[in-house]
Amino acid sequence: MKTINIAIDGPAGAGKSSIAREVASELGFVYVDTGALYRAIALFSTEYASRREFLNALEDDCHLEMKYFGGTQCIFLNGDNVTDKIRTPEISMKASEVSALPEVREFLLETQKDIAREYNVIMDGRDIGTVVLPDADLKIYLTASAEERASRRYLELEDKPDAPSYEQLLEEIKQRDYNDMHRAVSPLKQAKDAVLIDSTTMGFHEVCEEILDLIEERLDLE
Ligand code: C5P
Repeated sequence: MKTINIAIDGPAGAGKSSIAREVASELGFVYVDTGALYRAIALFSTEYASRREFLNALEDDCHLEMKYFGGTQCIFLNGDNVTDKIRTPEISMKASEVSALPEVREFLLETQKDIAREYNVIMDGRDIGTVVLPDADLKIYLTASAEERASRRYLELEDKPDAPSYEQLLEEIKQRDYNDMHRAVSPLKQAKDAVLIDSTTMGFHEVCEEILDLIEERLDLE
């Protein structure tokens, strides 16, 4: 039976993950955070002294698994649960770097397609609507201004020890936007048939509602 595939793409910090997770849980779909796959590869790359060694090892020595515990996605790298370890600013920048390598994108392409063939998914990332699931039933391009995205991140992190400043976060977001939009392979861009949602002045629930309405309009879900 054909599965239902919904793609949500957009820049870092636009709220894709939390929104996709909420919408998936409303619909009973599997939520797939593809950024976690790139982050896990970024972590894997830190074990190698050079890019060449890392790429040589990728095919045979990098085993990634997504597991779901009560709807929460956990990512395993060579048997270790690295879900928390990959959420550092260093790994964010490293993920942005390794994701520009064609070998890395090729390595992850089938994994992502396989999940979407097996389950009804809401998959979030940068190239889901353009490359991974070009035939998705609905494509959303979710964005917000860089300032708004940095300020949301700042509010999330401000109570943590060593929390970065707003200026640091804004700089990091702009750098990642630039990297993601200007790489040669699968750059971040809005698919022609994607619906644009600019959440700069929208609340979390408002965005979820808009996406759920679009899904209802587009798909005849029971
Ligand atoms: O979504 P998240 O911020 O966790 O992604 C980390 C990095 O992985 C992004 O900055 C981007 O460079 C890369 N990525 C990608 N394609 C995807 C998902 C993430 O290139 N589908």
